[in-house]
Amino acid sequence: MQVSTEILQSFKAGIRGPVIGPDAPEYDEVRQIWNAMIDRRPGLIVRCTGTADVQHAVRFARKHAFLLSVRGGGHNIAGLAVCDGGMMLDLSLMRGVSVDVKGRTARAQGGCTLGDVDRETQVHGLAAVLGFVSATGIGGLTTGGGFGYLSRRYGYTCDNLVSMEVVSAEGKVMRAAADENPELFWALRGGGGNFGIVTSFEYKLYPVGPEILGGAVVWRAEDAAQVLDFYRSFTATTPRETTCVAVLRIAPPAPWLPADVHGKPIIAVFVCHSGGIDEGEKILAPLRTLGRPVADIITRRPYTQMQSLLDATQPKGRRYYWKSNYLSRIEPQIIATAIEHAALIPSPHSAIIFFQLQGALGELSADYSPAGNRDTAFVLNITSSWERAADDAVNQRWARDCFAAAAPHSTGGTYINFLNEEEGRERIEAAYGRANLERLAKLKQKYDPGNLFRHTKSVLG
Ligand SMILES: Cc1cc2nc3c(=O)[nH]c(=O)nc-3n(C[C@H](O)[C@H](O)[C@H](O)COP(=O)(O)OP(=O)(O)OC[C@H]3O[C@@H](n4cnc5c(N)ncnc54)[C@H](O)[C@@H]3O)c2cc1C
Repeated sequence: MQVSTEILQSFKAGIRGPVIGPDAPEYDEVRQIWNAMIDRRPGLIVRCTGTADVQHAVRFARKHAFLLSVRGGGHNIAGLAVCDGGMMLDLSLMRGVSVDVKGRTARAQGGCTLGDVDRETQVHGLAAVLGFVSATGIGGLTTGGGFGYLSRRYGYTCDNLVSMEVVSAEGKVMRAAADENPELFWALRGGGGNFGIVTSFEYKLYPVGPEILGGAVVWRAEDAAQVLDFYRSFTATTPRETTCVAVLRIAPPAPWLPADVHGKPIIAVFVCHSGGIDEGEKILAPLRTLGRPVADIITRRPYTQMQSLLDATQPKGRRYYWKSNYLSRIEPQIIATAIEHAALIPSPHSAIIFFQLQGALGELSADYSPAGNRDTAFVLNITSSWERAADDAVNQRWARDCFAAAAPHSTGGTYINFLNEEEGRERIEAAYGRANLERLAKLKQKYDPGNLFRHTKSVLG
């Protein structure tokens, strides 16, 4: 970084949180994000403690024309949070949440994880619409769209925002809401980190839990065709309170799985029924009695437990590579493709996942927010995950081959937050749709004409 020691000292004096350079003992730990494939070395890491720190850091980065990356929960597969040589603005110390029980809203600071928000809202039996893994950051998830077990009822996470506090590229603190800076509000609800740094999100909350009916049913891979065919018809009939996720993978040595399936290929259906428990028992009965399950852990459980049930499958520090597309239905060909490629999985950590989506988000207009593909029914995510750099090629090839085979049966649409490091313009358009992307590009000229926020999936051509 090309600034004198005096200038750097004076910058540090204006920041309350730690400012870390490559010589600091904690540098490697702080720059490391979830995906170990990403190994970038920022020149400076600014660990912000509040809006004032963010504002000060943004002004400094802009003044000295630093490359700037923003870290929320550090879970972006493409590693957008960390840059080489520039400034990494780290929000992960900003994790406060306050709940307005009467107004049914929560305000959460920009560096919160999903777990931070669920923990506080569930004290009151309320929940925001968030994703499936509790360590994920709300910052990237919400600004990219966001979906989870409540999306069939209430839409994308970004559809459920009331307002945001944002630090703009000029270093101005702004409120973005339907009645204030509405264009910025639109752009930030799916347009990723291209438009500003959100220091706090205000979410709508809904009565959920504190106990729900949920868990998973597991079968051996021999039953995968039958289970996926059932999954296709079952998901077409279940109410919006019920959301399923089908997973093909090799069984981990989880204590809740019988020892004789550990290391063997399996298919699992994770499910959360966030409506009445008795009603849920009836709805889920056909899933639980299908074929010959080897495990069934569907039970009445805390919603926060459901929200972290998949956590152990996605630990920080492994190597990850994803390929993802949306599906309008689960056709027989996609079932055959998934089964064929699941049998070729080279790593015990990888999976082929079908997230169910259809419901409320499809009832909003295509331009309600930039997060596109509202007519989608399922998200197919091919998640390759392994431990050693020497195994990169084989694991990436598996995901690419599976994706290529599945592509003809997809809508061609995709999710901006699942795009990997290599995926650029064409895939970004597939995530937003052309009209939304063009509108985002125009708004980028208005809110960030100097392209300060460029360590992103860019909305520019
Ligand atoms: C294990 C795992 C599970 C996931 N599950 C889901 C899921 O269930 N549903 C779903 O929708 N997605 C899911 N995702 C995808 C997830 O939404 C993205 O990875 C998202 O980028 C994570 O946000 P983050 O803050 O952790 O990311 P980071 O890597 O910290 O940030 C990514 C980028 O987001 C932007 N950003 C982050 N915080 C802010 C902020 N406060 N203001 C402005 N911009 C910001 C910045 O451009 C930043 O570079 C999952 C990802 C992983 C790794």
